Amino acid sequence: MVYYVDVIIPIAVQQLFTYRINKAEYEYLQTGMRVVVPFGKKKYYTGIIAELHHRKPVAYEAKEIHQILDESPVVTPMQLKLWQWIAAYYMCTLGEVIKAAIPSSFLLQSETVILKNPDFKENEKLTDDAYLLLEALSIHNTLSVDDISKILSKKNVIPIIDKLVQINAIIVKEVIYEKYTPKIVSYIRMAPAWQSAEKLAELLETLQKAPKQKQVVLQYFQDRASQRKAVAYSWFIKKNSFSYNTVKTLIDKGIFEKYNLEEDRIKTGKAVENLPTLSPLQKKVFQKIQNFFHEEKPVLLHGVTGSGKTEIYMHFIQDFLAKGKQVLYLVPEIALTTQLINRLQKVFGDRISVFHSRYNLNERTEVWYHILNNRQKAQLIIGARSAVLLPFSDLGFIIIDEEHETSYKQFDPAPRYHARDLAVVLAKQFKAKVLLGSATPSIESYHNTQRKKYHIVSLKERYSKVLLPEIILINLSETYRKKQMKGHFSLDLLDEIQRVLQNHEQVILFQNRRGYAPIVSCTTCGVSPQCPNCDVSLTYHAYSDELRCHYCGFSDAMPKTCPACKNPTLDTKGFGTQQLEKEIKELFPKHKTTRMDFDTTRKKYDYHRIITAFQNREIDILIGTQMLSKGLDFSNVSLVGVLHADNMLNFPDFRAHERSFQMLLQVSGRAGRNKTRGKVIIQTFNPHHRILQQVSLNDYEGMYKEQITERWQYKYPPYFRLIKISLKHKDYHRVDQAAQWLGNSLKNSFNDWVLGPSSPAIGRVRNLYIKDLIIKIPLSESTVLVKRKLQKIKEHFLSINTYRSIRFNIDVDHY
Ligand code: ADP
Ligand code: ZN
Repeated sequence: MVYYVDVIIPIAVQQLFTYRINKAEYEYLQTGMRVVVPFGKKKYYTGIIAELHHRKPVAYEAKEIHQILDESPVVTPMQLKLWQWIAAYYMCTLGEVIKAAIPSSFLLQSETVILKNPDFKENEKLTDDAYLLLEALSIHNTLSVDDISKILSKKNVIPIIDKLVQINAIIVKEVIYEKYTPKIVSYIRMAPAWQSAEKLAELLETLQKAPKQKQVVLQYFQDRASQRKAVAYSWFIKKNSFSYNTVKTLIDKGIFEKYNLEEDRIKTGKAVENLPTLSPLQKKVFQKIQNFFHEEKPVLLHGVTGSGKTEIYMHFIQDFLAKGKQVLYLVPEIALTTQLINRLQKVFGDRISVFHSRYNLNERTEVWYHILNNRQKAQLIIGARSAVLLPFSDLGFIIIDEEHETSYKQFDPAPRYHARDLAVVLAKQFKAKVLLGSATPSIESYHNTQRKKYHIVSLKERYSKVLLPEIILINLSETYRKKQMKGHFSLDLLDEIQRVLQNHEQVILFQNRRGYAPIVSCTTCGVSPQCPNCDVSLTYHAYSDELRCHYCGFSDAMPKTCPACKNPTLDTKGFGTQQLEKEIKELFPKHKTTRMDFDTTRKKYDYHRIITAFQNREIDILIGTQMLSKGLDFSNVSLVGVLHADNMLNFPDFRAHERSFQMLLQVSGRAGRNKTRGKVIIQTFNPHHRILQQVSLNDYEGMYKEQITERWQYKYPPYFRLIKISLKHKDYHRVDQAAQWLGNSLKNSFNDWVLGPSSPAIGRVRNLYIKDLIIKIPLSESTVLVKRKLQKIKEHFLSINTYRSIRFNIDVDHY
């Protein structure tokens, strides 16, 4: 009998690789365990076992596995099944899926390290580089190839290493690093021998002559009593300013013992509040949803902003947790969710785990293990899109909050999945229930309710019957003409701000970022400084007096003269949040204004800090970008101002109108949430635009009807599925030629379903030229067939010599 395993390796290759194992290993190993396997020349990867079998591979001689890392699987069979589905549906490799799914601490890679041979006697003349390397090795003991490259400031150091290996001067070794380490905390306690009262008295007696040690012992009892738990070693010493030596002496004498415990890095508090009682209307909605849950279909909760969707979710969470089920709560972006997490934590306490992309590796690995083992603290999992890939064991319920948000779709790298769609697939696996929620549902989801794939429940009233805000459109062409403007603000908006501030209420001002980054241009020749790597203008950052590229991160000091005509006539036009902040501070110097955008929220807790300050009313006016549209709940905001609604509307994308509607209604939703009716002022050059009219009337259905007709007319989702192919290369002619070839080849198979090739609006990013092609597939057609043909064409494409170096990205259900 022969024994083999198929292993998924975290790289983008189509097939799995088969390795040889022996009988004992065959009996020990299970799918989902990790093994280290050799791959290519001298490289080792950690992979996941997908299958154990007896089939000898035909095309190659199977190598042996190198090492077994687990005693039990770290990946569940359900996950493997879901990942296979993802790879097939989104046309990517399993390797790409596991790279996205598993914390990289699980996927150790080998590193080649170089050691000095201690027995080496120098007897021939060495080159300078070789000499330098040996010297470095006697200081550092081991060096990686990367280190050596740096030390010698050379890219290719392999010849030097090879030479030194030949003369036995150095040894080359493969080391595999285990990256995840549990956090260990040391504690002290009295040794058992001294724990009785008599023994203790005796001890204190003998310590009469060592007053310092006696003091430590007495303090220990005090701290243990006041802490009511184990006494941590370092904490104890630092807090009491003891010397390490004194404590160590007590340990050496066998009076104290030191012991270690694993500890969670992420701690959650206990529950301190009860569930809020639902209003009669909310209760009705709850029951409707509950009835629908007798069927398998997902339910869409269409509830206006501030209607209490979160409260309804919480009641369902309670129910499912009581049944012992795991609950997954998906949010568009976890960094923007601190308010929600606080709210949930108060009610569900330490049963919550947050899967946060800004957590470090160790923290994420910890959460992974909690969920895998279905521990108490991983009953309610809150996370952004990648949380659908976690190792659930008994999932009962999935909430997709703000289901319309585009951040649920992964753009780059592959797998380019949509978490909302994946959540529905995941739920099927577990027979779990799905609840989608939004005040402004995506056209897709709403369409799914129309064709009875989802159920729908509406909640049209705010909690405690506060009216939805009054929305006023201000015609900018008129206010500019009549000179009723100060800077970027209409006088009407300024009056409202004034009134609100006098009432000690707060204001949110919203400026959409897209297209509004302040661009520098020369008033003499009209030229704007461009990014050297991308086809975009650089944007001006007043704070650091720099020009920056938002696509590749390039930055440069703001030039004093125009790079083209050399005149000192550079001017910043357009306006971003920085400019608004400056204007507002000049107009309302007595009030506190803060800006919240990408630049002010770079660090882990920046966002949290600003939100908390605003909540505590330490800030009167908050200026920000789309971040402000996402589910925030402030009780004292009575005015929301939108500075300029047009640019979003004119964005060249078939979803631009839908998105503008969603964004404007969502920011409006921050006003007047729980006391009195709020006001929203939207400044625009097109007050008669259909979308703005629909926003001002809160007319979702009207918007939907119009958009869905257009989607049908112009062959867009949800009536057609889009697959987008992007080719990228640093040589324009090569990518252009390749795109022509691909276009013809696709048209042969798919006729007039193919659009392009065309250059996107930004035709070059990070020095790579881009060409796009789109395939539009009618809903009636089998996508499986289309994908199979496309895969064949891709393979053909990559077999052409000159095209091999071109990046070929496929985006299924392109957004
Ligand atoms: P949504 O998620 O629909 O925008 P929220 O759940 O954030 O709405 O509710 C809006 C506000 O009303 C919140 O401050 C919330 O605490 C309050 N609220 C809603 N429902 C209730 C309830 N049943 N009991 C107490 N407060 C509620
Ligand atoms: Zn750039």
